[in-house]
Amino acid sequence: MRVSVLRGIGDVALIERPTPEPGPGEVLVRVASVGVCGSDVHYYDHGRIGQYVVEQPLVLGHEASGVVTALGAGVTSPAVGQRVSIEPGVPDLVCEQCLAGRYNLCANMRFYATPPIDGAFAEYVVVHAAFAHPVPDSISDDAAALLEPLSVGIWACRKGRVGAGSRVLITGAGPIGLVSVQAARAFGATDIVVSDVNPARLAIARELGATEVVDARTADVGDPPRPPQVLLECSGNPAATVAGIRALAPAGRAVLVGMGGEELALPLSVVQERELEVTGVFRYAGTWPTAIALVAAGRIDLDRLVTGSYALADAEGALTAGRRDPHSVKVVVHPQT
Ligand SMILES: [Zn+2]
Repeated sequence: MRVSVLRGIGDVALIERPTPEPGPGEVLVRVASVGVCGSDVHYYDHGRIGQYVVEQPLVLGHEASGVVTALGAGVTSPAVGQRVSIEPGVPDLVCEQCLAGRYNLCANMRFYATPPIDGAFAEYVVVHAAFAHPVPDSISDDAAALLEPLSVGIWACRKGRVGAGSRVLITGAGPIGLVSVQAARAFGATDIVVSDVNPARLAIARELGATEVVDARTADVGDPPRPPQVLLECSGNPAATVAGIRALAPAGRAVLVGMGGEELALPLSVVQERELEVTGVFRYAGTWPTAIALVAAGRIDLDRLVTGSYALADAEGALTAGRRDPHSVKVVVHPQT
């Protein structure tokens, strides 16, 4: 099969590899669509993310959909021919965190496109059968791939306890901010304020459910008359993070989703006097059923986020689309082309 590998900083190449065989409990998936994530771009640009360093050729891509084409020993579902969305991290399912239901915090997680585990910029991948989630035909291949970033937005809303009538502030209108807007609306939020420095992205945020947008170049989130109860911080920008925390209502929740610097000066008196909760999020757990139901019901539109598609041989074009085009939101790779 053809595979796109990252060999070093700024160096991707199309190579041939043997098609993998599904092991016991695994399925083989013919990959239809793979979304490009900021983490893929970061590995391409820098060769590492924190402690994860690309030391051998790495297959990027962890937002993937496809069709099951073979079953490993013992697998009864999904069936051959079933369209699936791949949940790209398989935990050990036996440790303390897994047994507590927090499998996203498993120390033995094997996650696609995180060294040394290969991702989905390939014609075929294998995955644990329980992590190949069947999707109905009303969900497109691209949307089935983007259930992965949507899962981040759903998990952020759960951690922030977004519910009916919630007032939510979302800082950053990149792909994760835009799925968080839609997830917050689907969870019942009625005030959804979104800030970003990119007017094109703010326009999409409004289209997808933001009730108010703030151009962070000329305005700040300030002191709104009805302060938000939940901050979903999706920019990674330290100033936006602190301003968002300061804007929260008493007993508010700040959910830090965006990847920023290593450290941040927290306005501690604000956190203490208002009894704010500040939490991080790391990936997600148990989100696919919700994501599939919301997209199938038409409550969330993932196809709207797709601004470009690329063949496997032009994975490099996909990885550099964001820097070339300020209107780029989410690009996808179609490995069968
Ligand atoms: Zn575990």
